[in-house]
Amino acid sequence: MIDVGCGGPAGYDHLHGGLTSIGLALRDLHTVVLSHAHPDHMGAMKYVLEVVHPRVLIHSLDVGAALDISRLHESFDIPLAKERFVPFDRFQDFDLMEFFNIFGCSMNPTENVAAINDGDVLRLGDFEFEVLLTPGHAPGHISLFERKTGILLANDLVGVSPAWYTPSSGGLTGYLESLNKLQSKKASVLIPSHGPVMENSEASIGRIREKLLKREGILLEALRAGPRKFMDLLAALFHDASIHFFPGCGILESHLIKLAKDGKIARSGDLISLIR
Ligand SMILES: [Zn+2]
Ligand SMILES: [Zn+2]
Repeated sequence: MIDVGCGGPAGYDHLHGGLTSIGLALRDLHTVVLSHAHPDHMGAMKYVLEVVHPRVLIHSLDVGAALDISRLHESFDIPLAKERFVPFDRFQDFDLMEFFNIFGCSMNPTENVAAINDGDVLRLGDFEFEVLLTPGHAPGHISLFERKTGILLANDLVGVSPAWYTPSSGGLTGYLESLNKLQSKKASVLIPSHGPVMENSEASIGRIREKLLKREGILLEALRAGPRKFMDLLAALFHDASIHFFPGCGILESHLIKLAKDGKIARSGDLISLIR
């Protein structure tokens, strides 16, 4: 099984219902491959472990968070958001695990973990999945490319919209490099974790790249009018204020890191300006 879904009652129903629909039960699970250590992909390990103890394969960079879920604060860059967000005291008590619970998708740790790495080949049933390390959204996020059929499980990296990204999860630079890696596989079909199957994998990957670069364009446009503060750029990038703290801060910081590295912006304290 690749990913088990959310912790929480709906997650249990999906997991149980999905297995039942193909004539299986939780007790039949012998191997679980986790695409990354996020609650909507592995929170339901809690229900699995109540019944059975499969081997759990996850990229070595996400093993830590899969065993100790408090470590997600780092890869979600919550301390960074608390530092950047103004007014400063508004989110000082923000608790990531509580945030997951509010969405009915609680995070739970797993056990029996074995680390996998880029280039490993997982022989599962009739399939041979090549492990592709594709950071950006999580440091140890993997995609799986089935060599015989050309099926690409892009997991969270490609969907209808881009996944969120933070510097510690690989950042924008990591995300763009991961998209190049996926596109180079010339997959016959792309299956995302969220959303419908995509027949034209190259076009689907290209659309995500365009959306990421469109955000870069919005930031450059805002800066053309003069130096801006972090919070100003956050408002320019996202009209929906409810996502400004998370994932907004991490996404914006990822863009600013790339723009500074590309020699397009300069940062002085909280002020960001264009290099002409
Ligand atoms: Zn995710
Ligand atoms: Zn996801």
